[in-house]
Amino acid sequence: MTKRDAQVIIIGAGVIGTACAYFLSRLGIKSLVLERHYLCAGASGASAALITLGSTHPTSDPLDLLRFESHELIRELGHAFDPPIEMIQGGSLYTITDEKENRELRRNFDQSEESSDGFRFMEGEEVHRFEPILGPQVMAAYFNPKDFHVNPFRLCEGYLNAALHRGCRVEYGITVHEVTTKNGQVDRVVTDQGDYYADWVVVAGGAHTPQILAKTGIEVPITPARGQVIITEPCEAMTGRVLFLPDHLYVKQTAKGNFYLGSHTEFVGFDSGITLDKISAYSREFSRAVPLFSKLKAVRFFTGFRPLSADERPIIGPLPHCPNLIVASGHGRNGMCYSASTGKAVSELISAGNTTLPINAFGIERFSNGLEV
Ligand SMILES: Cc1cc2nc3c(=O)[nH]c(=O)nc-3n(C[C@H](O)[C@H](O)[C@H](O)COP(=O)(O)OP(=O)(O)OC[C@H]3O[C@@H](n4cnc5c(N)ncnc54)[C@H](O)[C@@H]3O)c2cc1C
Repeated sequence: MTKRDAQVIIIGAGVIGTACAYFLSRLGIKSLVLERHYLCAGASGASAALITLGSTHPTSDPLDLLRFESHELIRELGHAFDPPIEMIQGGSLYTITDEKENRELRRNFDQSEESSDGFRFMEGEEVHRFEPILGPQVMAAYFNPKDFHVNPFRLCEGYLNAALHRGCRVEYGITVHEVTTKNGQVDRVVTDQGDYYADWVVVAGGAHTPQILAKTGIEVPITPARGQVIITEPCEAMTGRVLFLPDHLYVKQTAKGNFYLGSHTEFVGFDSGITLDKISAYSREFSRAVPLFSKLKAVRFFTGFRPLSADERPIIGPLPHCPNLIVASGHGRNGMCYSASTGKAVSELISAGNTTLPINAFGIERFSNGLEV
């Protein structure tokens, strides 16, 4: 086997590619990760890395099963990876500023079993005693104690380092142009540095996955969904909670003390510009919800492109005409959350041909109309 051959080639060193490498390595399978830039160069490096559940128990929806399994796996890995992934287990608080929303959520909460499991619904003064940094317009909040957040770079580093220790390899600065197939099997991975060969190829190129697979004749319905992010100067530890604010905004304080202020989804192709209209609107909203923000300095602005599939669910599984060419992408707003279970499922698919959790629902065949281009 030459340096250009591998049992499995993984395209992309984001959270999905590195999670696949990690779980394959746990099964004794050595992969080669090809990345055109550097670790976490895509959406993963821009992520808030909130690992959220949304409810106490999974429904039978395969997406719920994927999320709950991943949540548990990441929590375990958070205690195992070295250096630590900076896991902050403060839960999350969904804030409410609207009377109608308050009534609806209160009713749903009262009818659910969630109050038994540390979940809480708070109103009025109780919210402000619980989370003093919130501004007066927050009238109620719903607390989920199980949610946590991590440092996305550290999570990817953790997955990759553990895989490297078990014999996985990574090459940076390699741009994959296409994956060719022959007689229903992977033939070559064509890159700007020459061809690579593998028994299996996993495409984890995030929002660029459609371009990587364009010449296979399969249309992969994934769109880049931009998010603009503001990072404040570091300050003393004020909250360990993820705060979900009105209008789909959210906040976390990192282990280093900076606040990460995160944002809406915009469909502007791969335009990575920071726009003053969004940043100024966000700054106003954030400062209203958390008044202390108006005094903090912003030290960094950046954008990232969530790989959003047409139905907002991940695409995990082989291409229909080529069983050893696997797509692991399209995780949209939740790639960090789903990373561990996706990596595990891909590793099982490659080693055993089936998976512990059902992943048929994530096959690319679900977009069957007009799939072949
Ligand atoms: C602002 C923002 C906030 C977010 N917050 C959260 C959150 O709180 N929780 C959560 O779960 N998710 C969150 N997400 C979503 C999450 O970050 C993504 O779903 C996840 O990072 C996708 O990972 P990926 O590995 O599929 O893609 P990426 O991280 O984009 O990785 C793909 C990699 O492939 C490489 N690549 C692309 N094309 C090629 C090529 N031709 N050859 C070689 N390499 C290539 C890229 O350079 C990149 O490194 C957020 C995303 C954004 C943008």
